Amino acid sequence: MGYKIRTAVPADEGKIRELFLEMLRTIYHTDDVKGYGDGDLDRFWSESPNRIYVAEDGQVVAFLSVEVHHDPVDHIYLDDFSVTAAYRNKGIGSALIRTAEAYAERIGSRAVLLHVEKTNAPAMRFYERSGYAVFRDDGNRLLLKKDIEDHFCEALREQNTEKLLTIPKSDLHNHSTKGCRRSWLAERLKKDLPDPPVPLDGLSGMQEWFRSALKPFCDGQEGVLLRWEGAFAEAKRNHIARLSMNFGAAEIDLAGGIEVFRELIEGFHRAYCPDTVFEPELTYPSNCDVSFEAEKIDGYLQSGWFRSIDICGFENCQPIEAFLPLYRKAEQYCLVKKMHAGEAGTADDVRRAVEALGLSEVHHGIAASTSKETMRFLADNHIQLNVCPSSNVMLGYVKDYSTHPIRTLVENEVRVTINTDDLLIFDSTIENEYLKLYRAGTLSVDQLDEIRRAGLGTGWRS
Ligand SMILES: [Zn+2]
Repeated sequence: MGYKIRTAVPADEGKIRELFLEMLRTIYHTDDVKGYGDGDLDRFWSESPNRIYVAEDGQVVAFLSVEVHHDPVDHIYLDDFSVTAAYRNKGIGSALIRTAEAYAERIGSRAVLLHVEKTNAPAMRFYERSGYAVFRDDGNRLLLKKDIEDHFCEALREQNTEKLLTIPKSDLHNHSTKGCRRSWLAERLKKDLPDPPVPLDGLSGMQEWFRSALKPFCDGQEGVLLRWEGAFAEAKRNHIARLSMNFGAAEIDLAGGIEVFRELIEGFHRAYCPDTVFEPELTYPSNCDVSFEAEKIDGYLQSGWFRSIDICGFENCQPIEAFLPLYRKAEQYCLVKKMHAGEAGTADDVRRAVEALGLSEVHHGIAASTSKETMRFLADNHIQLNVCPSSNVMLGYVKDYSTHPIRTLVENEVRVTINTDDLLIFDSTIENEYLKLYRAGTLSVDQLDEIRRAGLGTGWRS
């Protein structure tokens, strides 16, 4: 039997409803059962982390619905589960549960929970064999639990790069055209590429080095395409389960306009890491002509593909309020609002950017660590800082890893994630960022794991 498992789509709803009724009839030994009501399955079709997995053999023969919860700890709950009679006892149930468990790991969940009727002895035996144990007695039902094994902490303690590469991580601050490894690019170009001087003398030093030393090797449309491909190749290699990558309007135009560009990027996503949650971000340089760009922005946003907006480049080029026309547009399209602030700038810049533009995330934002008040503000308002340690060190904004402000931010309960920024320049892949902070004693294994999980799980705001 050659069944395959996939994520359900709205077109599967009819079959899922039938399978649910079949399951109820089997459990209660009567045809007098009530299936799903209108709209009961809508929560699986909207943009939420909830999922239904189906097994298909010509047609859908089984399904398992999965809800994502965060209380009291991040976990998934296996809700409804049905395998049609002719397909039972063939391993389909186990395969669906394994798929759900792998999903839990990808989104940083700590456990899988489910209910089983006390009278359903075969189901109880099945779950026990699959590693589940009784967590709570809920009257007629038992709540069963299985912890997701945590290999990340172990791999970090062992400083085992190979193992770290296989564990789901996120990268939420990634400039796509500089998102590939230098060694990957060198291999594809069959050329030796130069290493940057350290430190690079700030953002201007970095841009100057990139323009003069590296860009001549990978310039023009062809060069950009290759670098984009390399960014997705790295997401695959490093098991990036959630990837937020930013793209400039000028790069989109260079690729041939939004439609051609989108097809290209989706092609790389499909080819390299189709299971990765991919959240494209539209970014503008801080010296852009805001009113000109605000006129044009609908063309990029209309299709609903972009998930967030960002301003990058030099800080304080223009007053923060000058960007409001772009952020108002972004709001119309329900984008997550982010901005680069507080790398070279101050704690006050971070707070002002958040307040003036309604940001929910800040790229860098490390200067907030100099102000207790700003950190309290960020923590209270659940503002996330997408921190890039190697970028900060190599550009000379932070002395070294051991004194990196991420520690102060974590100690002050600011939500942070760890990211690569410009991998092509800084040459520190995501697992290496975690390793560097661990080796330097900046953060503990458990703190680093918390950060990893936060990055995986915060793509969905409930
Ligand atoms: Zn950046």
